[in-house]
Amino acid sequence: MKKVLSIILVISMLLSMTACANQGTEDQTSAENAIFTPGTYEGEAEGFHGVIKATVKVSETAIEDITVVHTETAGLGDKAVENIVLQVKEGTTLNVPIVSGATYSSEGILAAITAALEKAGADIAALKSKESTAEEPVQEDIEKTADVVVIGGGGAGLAAAVSAHQNGASVILVEKMPQLGGNTIISGSAYNAADPDRQDELVMTDLEKQTIEGLITKEVSDEAVKGWQETLKAEWEAYKASGKTQLFDSPTLHKLQTYFGGDMQGDTELISILADNALPAVEWLEELDMEFKDYVFTVLGGLWSRAHKPAKPLGTGYIEAYTNYIAENSSEIEIMTETKAESFIVKDGAVVGVNASGKGGAVTLYANNGVVLATGGFGANVEMREQYNTLWPSLREVKTTNHTGATGDGIIMAEEINASVTGMENIQLLPMGDPQTGSLSGNIEQGVQNRIFVNKEGNRFVDEGARRDVMTKALMEQTDAYMWVIVDKHSYPTGDTVNNFNESIDDLVSAGRAFKADTLEELAAQIGVDPSNLSASVESFNQAVEGKSADPFGRTLFAEKIDTPPYYAGARVPTVHHTMGGVVITENAQVVDVNGVIIKGLYAAGEVTGGIHGSNRLGGNALADITVFGKIAGESAALMK
Ligand code: ADP
Repeated sequence: MKKVLSIILVISMLLSMTACANQGTEDQTSAENAIFTPGTYEGEAEGFHGVIKATVKVSETAIEDITVVHTETAGLGDKAVENIVLQVKEGTTLNVPIVSGATYSSEGILAAITAALEKAGADIAALKSKESTAEEPVQEDIEKTADVVVIGGGGAGLAAAVSAHQNGASVILVEKMPQLGGNTIISGSAYNAADPDRQDELVMTDLEKQTIEGLITKEVSDEAVKGWQETLKAEWEAYKASGKTQLFDSPTLHKLQTYFGGDMQGDTELISILADNALPAVEWLEELDMEFKDYVFTVLGGLWSRAHKPAKPLGTGYIEAYTNYIAENSSEIEIMTETKAESFIVKDGAVVGVNASGKGGAVTLYANNGVVLATGGFGANVEMREQYNTLWPSLREVKTTNHTGATGDGIIMAEEINASVTGMENIQLLPMGDPQTGSLSGNIEQGVQNRIFVNKEGNRFVDEGARRDVMTKALMEQTDAYMWVIVDKHSYPTGDTVNNFNESIDDLVSAGRAFKADTLEELAAQIGVDPSNLSASVESFNQAVEGKSADPFGRTLFAEKIDTPPYYAGARVPTVHHTMGGVVITENAQVVDVNGVIIKGLYAAGEVTGGIHGSNRLGGNALADITVFGKIAGESAALMK
């Protein structure tokens, strides 16, 4: 019995020793495999719209959770952040590709996570070079047919898709980027339309009255424009007889400003359609549940207070309105992202489809009725800019407000089938680029009336209510082509007041992207300009606001003086913004060939088209253009078989 007991004891001791030994091996193994010190760590980095904060929870061997706080663009940057967080977490890797079209957001989230993982003791180089476990897409060619095929999922293409569907068509829309939105979703989003209800609160100044009288009497030879002048004269006489004091506006005034603002190069028929349909198209967007603020303002280079402001930041309101409609009608409207159109399928002289390349192979799309080309401009294609630019010094080194997909593909595709293009040299620059990125983010202006521009010496140098090309050319002549936008409390009544990009002034100041001071002298010291020049610039502007003296630069658009602290300054540089040239279209948005003959089955809308804006597009006219002509193109493609 004793022997049995001692054997049991020995066995159990042995077992427990083995267990201990196993435990030891496990501990050793897990310590050997450990790549993080378990815990929760925080990291931050700059995204596209300010700081991205990542909180990362790790065990010894895996990333268990990542929570993120950010203000990246809805529908674009936020999707990139989501996508990257998922891949980092699932693969415990930093070898994750940048999401195309959302570079800054992608780099920002990766940098924030990296900063957190550094604190967790991770070997960052190893995580960055870890082999990808992402599955290769299945190689499969796709062939499909719909009534209407739309190329490009920005504002014009989505408007066309919705409108084609409203007119009874089934639709397939192809978008080469991983997400919809194009330049539209990152635009300032001002939308011009004469709108008596929203303009009711604005009082007309004497200088604005002089602007109207100048337009009525301007010398022109074009018969259509003479007709507009006659109409404006009658409208103006009726306005004066009515004793009204509100700001005058009408589609006729909008037409004349668009035409003269583009150096009389715009097609009068297309300008007429744009201005006459601008307000009805706002109402169409409202029927799609898009919300606009109940006031209008003057956008940079917009020349008149008729710019509508969406309730949601940037262009997200437009894209959401369209995508909500599409989601509700998903059985009849298909969206194919990461699908790049490459050429048209032409049969008996008519466009009948599109050849594209998709995630996993060739995509061939046939259109029963028509194809709408809505691929946007070529602002992000440096070679094309160089090829066509005649009006500016070289634009090779100039940054752009555009998304990376704005490469002019549609223009090249259309030219391959003999489409006519016009105005390709007309490339628009803004004086409003972020010095680091060229984007419009961080811009502290809130409309034209209440801000001035000063150069590095602290001096004003241009009428800040002028055309965009005039302001940008003047900026290019200043030291380092660099300027400061100066505003005061009238633009930012509180620190949490946001700009067009939903960035609060307090956040911009704390990120060092804007400067704030209680006096102009202090502001001048912060931004390194001569304080007496800055004070004199503001003083002469204030005199002009009060009507005590004429503005030295002939400025006509004023509201408040710059006299109430805090004062703010934000730096800006020239940036490529919009390409006015593109394919020639008719009033039905049909594409015309080099012989002036309509190319059957092909329609186009938006920045890919040319001929509407002439040499200079008015600020606020792009959103009106892409909506009005996107809607027309969709309708034409659905109905004109
Ligand atoms: P618009 O204001 O005229 O709508 P956007 O720039 O907003 O112009 O939208 C154009 C869209 O077309 C972008 O989303 C862009 O990625 C897309 N696009 C450009 N080229 C192609 C192509 N070859 N195939 C599919 N989509 C394209």
